[in-house]
Amino acid sequence: MTPAPSGAKAGAQAATPNGAPRLTCIAPGVHFVERGWLNGNHFIATSPQLRLIDTGYKDDLETTIEVLRGLDAEPRDIELIVNTHCHCDHAGGNRRLQAESGCRIVMHEREKRRIEEGDDIGTWWRFHDTWAEPFPVHAGLAEGDELEFGPLSLRVVHAPGHSIGQIALYCREQRFLISADALWHGDLGVINPLVEGEDALERAGQTLERILSLDVAVVYPGHGGAITEPRPAALRCMRKLESYRKNELRMHEDHLRKMAAYVVLTKSRVHPDALYDQLMQQIWFTQLVDRYFDARPRPVYERILGEMLTLRMVKLEGGFLVGSGRR
Ligand SMILES: [Zn+2]
Repeated sequence: MTPAPSGAKAGAQAATPNGAPRLTCIAPGVHFVERGWLNGNHFIATSPQLRLIDTGYKDDLETTIEVLRGLDAEPRDIELIVNTHCHCDHAGGNRRLQAESGCRIVMHEREKRRIEEGDDIGTWWRFHDTWAEPFPVHAGLAEGDELEFGPLSLRVVHAPGHSIGQIALYCREQRFLISADALWHGDLGVINPLVEGEDALERAGQTLERILSLDVAVVYPGHGGAITEPRPAALRCMRKLESYRKNELRMHEDHLRKMAAYVVLTKSRVHPDALYDQLMQQIWFTQLVDRYFDARPRPVYERILGEMLTLRMVKLEGGFLVGSGRR
């Protein structure tokens, strides 16, 4: 990995109000759309065909459509949706956009299988009341496939760990990588061995090594802004995975914290006792606690809540928890 060329962020619009999408033109007719923390980011190519990478949450589809219209594009004209993986914050808008446009939808073969099998755990569709509606997947992608995206050619890089069939997309010509949830700014998407298998942690590490081996100047992650110094960001993640290898409970605590922060963000404002009740209804919370924390949810909850407050992932306002957007 090498430093970002100057001008890598040329075309970025001024910051929009808190949580509103922020668009950055990354090539002629190609935009990186940074969403608020809950939604996966998108990429839109408007010509020669209208193509999308990821579609965000179902419940935030109106904003996705507004973004398209802001680029003089109409949902009915979408020709292709590419999903980095099948989680509901990345594929939630698929159903309606596909129904309106009749477009093709493609994703890695393993994720395609999850959709076709109606796997509502592996897709996160049963997660936090946020269902994605079923949609057709027209083709499975594999490592090395090339996708045309506006004037760019993107190579599929299989990036498992967070999800078995997650892909990153590499643009060799412009030296950028769309990293999905394999690499964020010094962090990465949760690793859940209960869903992704006992070797998910090893896979996530191999994926980061793969990313480090690519000539990349800018990373566009699945959540958060562009990373113009990808190497230190990836190395920080590697160190995090190393600490998980030494003590796997850290990985599960990270998962529980992110899960709790996520609920706070979806509710805007929640009493700590209500958050506990919400989490106790989450299948993953109880499964993780049962399996790794001696089936004692309350002390685990109190510990992770204390850490979340210390890490400023959430704050207390008048006795209620409020999300800060920090991880
Ligand atoms: Zn994900």
